[in-house]
Amino acid sequence: MYPSPVLYIGGAVRAGGRRRLEPILNPATGSELASLSHADAGDLEDAIDSATKAFRGWSVTSAFDRYVILRRAADLLLQRVELIARAITLEQGKPLAEARHEVAVSANVIDWYAEEGRRAYGRIIPGRNSAVRQMVLAEPVGPAVAFTPWNFPVFTPAHKVGAALAAGCSLILKAAEETPAGAVELLRAFHDAGLPPGVLNLVFGVPSEISTYFIRSKAVSKISFTGSTAVGRQLMSQAGAELKRTTMELGGHAPVIVLGDVDPAPCAALLAAGKFRNAGQTCISPSRYYVHESIYEEFVRRFVAYTNTLTVGDGLDEKTTLGPLANSRRVDAMERFVADARTRGGRLRAGGERRGGDGYYFAPTIVTDVADDALLMTHEPFGPIAPIVPFADLDQALTRANSLPFGLAAYAFTTSNALAARLANDLKAGMVGINTLAVSAPETPFGGVRDSGHGQEGGVEGLEAYLNLKLVAHAQ
Ligand code: NAD
Repeated sequence: MYPSPVLYIGGAVRAGGRRRLEPILNPATGSELASLSHADAGDLEDAIDSATKAFRGWSVTSAFDRYVILRRAADLLLQRVELIARAITLEQGKPLAEARHEVAVSANVIDWYAEEGRRAYGRIIPGRNSAVRQMVLAEPVGPAVAFTPWNFPVFTPAHKVGAALAAGCSLILKAAEETPAGAVELLRAFHDAGLPPGVLNLVFGVPSEISTYFIRSKAVSKISFTGSTAVGRQLMSQAGAELKRTTMELGGHAPVIVLGDVDPAPCAALLAAGKFRNAGQTCISPSRYYVHESIYEEFVRRFVAYTNTLTVGDGLDEKTTLGPLANSRRVDAMERFVADARTRGGRLRAGGERRGGDGYYFAPTIVTDVADDALLMTHEPFGPIAPIVPFADLDQALTRANSLPFGLAAYAFTTSNALAARLANDLKAGMVGINTLAVSAPETPFGGVRDSGHGQEGGVEGLEAYLNLKLVAHAQ
């Protein structure tokens, strides 16, 4: 039921031997699913070598031929949705319905990059001298390395793999050791789609050792990372020393401003559903709620009512709507957030504690009226806790919403077009949702500002992240 996790280098799988092993745990039960082999020094060297050699061929493969392989891989993902979704649920915990959705949108992402890769056009700029033709050519940056976390085992790798391959780059993926099967299945789809050996490689190991090794390698031209701000900062400084291009998708703590002119019932239900998706382990999760005082109590009541309808359990059970957290670190973190909130005026309206049993369960939790300097309001909870506080004045709400160093997603709900325009302008974030939480689609740019990172995935910008521009001035 759980695919065997393997390394994939130069078009062939590797595992076992004298490699160090790491147990993969099922967060719903705490039991061991499989053993993951860590790449050894030879594997890392081979991965670089394979990616370097494969780049020579893939970068000059026609955009159309690349498109055919990416499209085939997307179709294979869809054909295998059930198998891959089960693997995601087993290793990461999210309910099966969410895992199926993750696989489907990952196929969408690859499909979109397949198409967009055919449109990686350059341009011609008229010369000042009519005998000179000035051409801007878009060229793949070179072999790239991507690091992905455990919250979306297929979707985040799909973004990096889709963009890199469509642009003509080869890629080494270091996916999260805690959730390897999603990445393994993604690469299997590309292998079966006929991707030439070495264009895509997959390794696992001690994250800091692997990132240090690859960032120092002269053969690697680009680093893409999704994860915490702290690790992003570290990788950026290492990449800076080597003058390597980076894309950094880091943490957030998305504010939500709910104005007094909205109907609190549907708004609270939408926001609670968004909050508890993937047990809150989503970087664009709506995670700090500033609600106008005129509808505050009703909004909280409706939010609590929705939360009470959630069924917490093993994601493999079709009735489950909130699975376990992905690892025990997150459960410990939730306890710290709740304990701190309690000392800072927070009123617990739902949940607040871990659930019994061997899995990493934490009850869906709502804390209201907590102080702005509480840990919950200043640090990304990355879990199933929603802090809700009232506001009276919109200017003050905006100041509070913009007060953190993060700037990934932000949301606002209002029926006033004038206020919507103002909020869209004044919220400091890479993505702003007005009356919606849907700020991520394959064709739209996804990325943050300030401590949430830089660069985009998705949209034409996602492809451009793997392209260099070259000017050719041709005097005739
Ligand atoms: P963490 O910060 O150690 O790890 C986050 C991810 O980065 C993991 O996948 C890990 O394997 C990887 N990583 C860690 N050090 C690395 C290194 N030196 N080189 C390359 N990769 C490295 O901690 P964690 O406990 O896994 O997560 C804690 C916090 O990270 C969360 O609270 C959340 O804020 C953030 N996070 C963000 C995302 C996101 O989608 N932006 C995803 C997962 C975690």
